[in-house]
Amino acid sequence: MSGLSVKLKTPHTGEYEQPTGLFINNEWVKGVDGKTFEVINPATEEVITSVHEATEKDVDIAVQAARKAFNGPWRTETPENRGKLLVNLANLFEKNVDILAAVESLDNGKAITMAKGDVGAAVGCLRYYGGWADKIEGKVVDTNHETFNYIRKEPIGVCGQIIPWNFPLLMWAWKIGPAIAAGNVVVLKTAEQTPLSALVAANLVKEAGFPPGVVNIISGFGKVAGAAISSHMDIDKVAFTGSTVVGRQIMKAAAGSNLKKVTLELGGKSPNIVFDDADIENAISWVNFGIYFNHGQCCCAGSRVYVQEGIYDKFLQRFKERAQQNAVGDPFHPETFQGPQVSQLQFDRIMSYIEHGKSAGATVETGGKRKGDKGYFIEPTIFSNVTEDMKIVQEEIFGPVCSVSKFKTKDEVIALGNNSTYGLAAAVHTTNLNTALEVANSIRAGTVWVNSYNTLHWQLPFGGFKESGIGRELGEAAIENYIQTKTVSIRLGDALFG
Ligand code: ADP
Repeated sequence: MSGLSVKLKTPHTGEYEQPTGLFINNEWVKGVDGKTFEVINPATEEVITSVHEATEKDVDIAVQAARKAFNGPWRTETPENRGKLLVNLANLFEKNVDILAAVESLDNGKAITMAKGDVGAAVGCLRYYGGWADKIEGKVVDTNHETFNYIRKEPIGVCGQIIPWNFPLLMWAWKIGPAIAAGNVVVLKTAEQTPLSALVAANLVKEAGFPPGVVNIISGFGKVAGAAISSHMDIDKVAFTGSTVVGRQIMKAAAGSNLKKVTLELGGKSPNIVFDDADIENAISWVNFGIYFNHGQCCCAGSRVYVQEGIYDKFLQRFKERAQQNAVGDPFHPETFQGPQVSQLQFDRIMSYIEHGKSAGATVETGGKRKGDKGYFIEPTIFSNVTEDMKIVQEEIFGPVCSVSKFKTKDEVIALGNNSTYGLAAAVHTTNLNTALEVANSIRAGTVWVNSYNTLHWQLPFGGFKESGIGRELGEAAIENYIQTKTVSIRLGDALFG
């Protein structure tokens, strides 16, 4: 691996070997153009290392490797063995939890306890899809006496997968799990902000026993490698998680090239609704977790909080106190809840939304400022006195910033909840079952939590209504994204015509 790995250190694990190359055909290679790019530690703003950058030519090479694997022995690999490989991978993730989590914290800035949680969820996801591999079944359909019809569920082929920086390892597992279970091969591009953990995980792919070319992992930029994936003529499907703006570009590129299948998991501006009859302390905990978990860098973040008028003042006061108690700081400190935002660019974007909220006349109840003078830390921020037309209420901020508004009636809050172009998630906090069900059924979103928030699970489908996406991640639903249906119709009787 000479020149394709470096020795790095994390405060959690000490020294480790960090791969820096492109993982193609189970081998570490440099990019054809010999380019590299720097990876920044968001907690210190210092360069961690440089990794090799994939350009269009490298995407091509990775696609060729994947195609060769798909057309080769992988095509006839038994479902049982595909399942075994995913379970092996899950076990290796479990065994390597400390190093995977530490690299994630180093590169992404998330708190080490949260990073360990992400690895645990990645293990669950990979193991779950390992279990799915031999349960993808077709069926027989009777049309008449002279015909035998069977429906096969076949893999789509070479899948391009483009993942974001907010949950690098978890998105890696969400994408690779169902694709492999269904018999596909993948070329996965990580986000340019956070390439490191996926490369450590790539070594585990090889160790788990995957044949060459089945899983290929590349680092690179969206406009270069990402664009090359979405417009590639020999990629059969592209799966993307990221912003709605880029999701549109990917769909256009797919339409303009070979009409590859597209699934998109995009942004959100999710309502978190608290009724007068809610258990208020419980609701505050979930609202706090709903917006500040992962530093607000969640597509399903509960960024629009609506509180019924009877408890509004009390709720706001207590929520403010709660937000101020969140431990913001060094991702490697075991007590830290909120680390830095991922990059200078994201930091600047969030701060500009905060400034916009202030100048539009909203009140900063708490936060609203940078924390410290090094690293991209932002104080947990709450706005009140907002109006529905404000940018901070309409647009995805992707940071630790929420708005709190007052409502009177159930019908009013359902309308407010649905007043968004997004529809990824929502939550309702109430002790009244009828209220819970009516709101849950009326909100146009892919997931609605009742008396909780962010409790995603690999067995439960996740994805967007409206402009929050196309297709579903997780659960049985994600398998649907990676199979295509073939009808085989066998004529048993005599020729029909003549
Ligand atoms: P964010 O704005 O939050 O950084 P993006 O949607 O830009 O999120 O990025 C998510 C992923 O999409 C990353 O892997 C990024 O490299 C990739 N990406 C960005 N632009 C493009 C593009 N034009 N085509 C394909 N992929 C892209």
